[in-house]
Amino acid sequence: MAPQPTTYFHSVALQREKCQGCVSCVKLCPTEAIRVRNGKAEILGDRCIDCGACAAGCPYHAFSVRTDTLEGLADYAYNIVLPAPSLYAQFPDNVPLEDIWQGLQNLGFDEIFDVSLASEYIAREIEEYIKSYTGGRKPLISATCPAVMRLIQVKFPELIKQVVPVLAPVEAAAIYIKREAAARRQLPGELIGVWFISPCPSKETNIRQSVDVQHTELTGSFSLSEIYGLLLKNLGGTHELNVRTGSSYGLSWGAYGGEITSAGLSNALAVHGIDNVYEMLEQISMNKMPQLDYVECNACKGGCLGGLLAAENKYVAECNLRRRIAALRGKEPADRHEAMARTMVLEDFPKSAAYRKKLVARPMMQLDDDIMEAMKKFERMEEVLCSLPGLDCGACGAPSCQGLAEDIVQGKAHEIDCIFKLRASVHKLSQGMLELAKQIPIYHEPKDLNKMEDDDHEG
Ligand code: SF4
Ligand code: SF4
Repeated sequence: MAPQPTTYFHSVALQREKCQGCVSCVKLCPTEAIRVRNGKAEILGDRCIDCGACAAGCPYHAFSVRTDTLEGLADYAYNIVLPAPSLYAQFPDNVPLEDIWQGLQNLGFDEIFDVSLASEYIAREIEEYIKSYTGGRKPLISATCPAVMRLIQVKFPELIKQVVPVLAPVEAAAIYIKREAAARRQLPGELIGVWFISPCPSKETNIRQSVDVQHTELTGSFSLSEIYGLLLKNLGGTHELNVRTGSSYGLSWGAYGGEITSAGLSNALAVHGIDNVYEMLEQISMNKMPQLDYVECNACKGGCLGGLLAAENKYVAECNLRRRIAALRGKEPADRHEAMARTMVLEDFPKSAAYRKKLVARPMMQLDDDIMEAMKKFERMEEVLCSLPGLDCGACGAPSCQGLAEDIVQGKAHEIDCIFKLRASVHKLSQGMLELAKQIPIYHEPKDLNKMEDDDHEG
């Protein structure tokens, strides 16, 4: 088994000074990676999958996402940008793609390579893999959302065998275009920057520490919403660029269900939103969906269009993209394979098998490195858990009573962090005080002599 990293890169970061300790994020995290201690949230790095759910739900905007800036282009002699359908969807369909590409060139990129082209090759690989898959458990699970891959690693490692071993289109696009541009322009690879415009934090994390590709050819990524703002001011121009695009099927990958459509899968479904994906993976893990061939999973609601870094409202973006797809499909052959064959003309497009890394489990709960010690801690954790109310209210700053029990045995929390335990302790203490008070001899204040004299006169 490939060695697992001991530290993990995270693009999602907490800005402690903005955190108000409201615990809203604790319950949103699918991997129970957040604790609120001493009034401030903390992210447990070995559990976080960079899905961005916490950042999307924090009412105080206390999370940020680390991405690159355009200044980074200066470090390379030649810069290639990889726009994806999620970028096009931010613009109404009456904005020509040529205007967007020209805008990207105006921002300083030398070349544009459309990710939708790569999506078609990956769709074909998925289709072929499913056709030749025999005997194993079903449904197969899509591999293209890095947040979902990490969720499987930490919470559902038993499903790793059901993940279709293909590259994410953006990774395949980067491998292809860097190699091709290096040969065409006679440049060493290290002088070529290959950049992605990302709709979500998990794709940025995957560039720094990939779950699926042995060696990424991506240099970095920019936040879609930041580039969108700059693009708006730089749209349009001479339209002299020669950019290839995929068919309507490649374009459809931006929205949920696009993967299934472009791979021509009828016995399949698309699940989006990290909570829905979690529930679906739980069901698959219990073997409750064996009749299905394939499940496309996207951590963001609405697919990549609903990513945390997207600029446009996800419903508007979906409408924009579906209109572009419909317009393109009207000009294509009715047969899907024929339509895609017209754009799948790139020479030596990389095959996933040569570049994909094996997905491995990332165990979430390790009570101790020493097995005996871990067993003792486990027993203690069970005892503590039995003494907790089992309401999973989150008020203690842990996502569940189980989480608090684990924190207690690890010495990171106290039983009285549970408000029910605290109330019981305070009640017990106050009862003790009352009992004690009953045993103390009553002390009578001496009568005020002056007042006694006054009383005598009145009498
Ligand atoms: S949601 Fe989390 S990070 Fe945001 S203020 Fe509340 S506790 Fe802090
Ligand atoms: S990014 Fe996702 S996994 Fe990481 S702490 Fe936030 S909600 Fe949890």
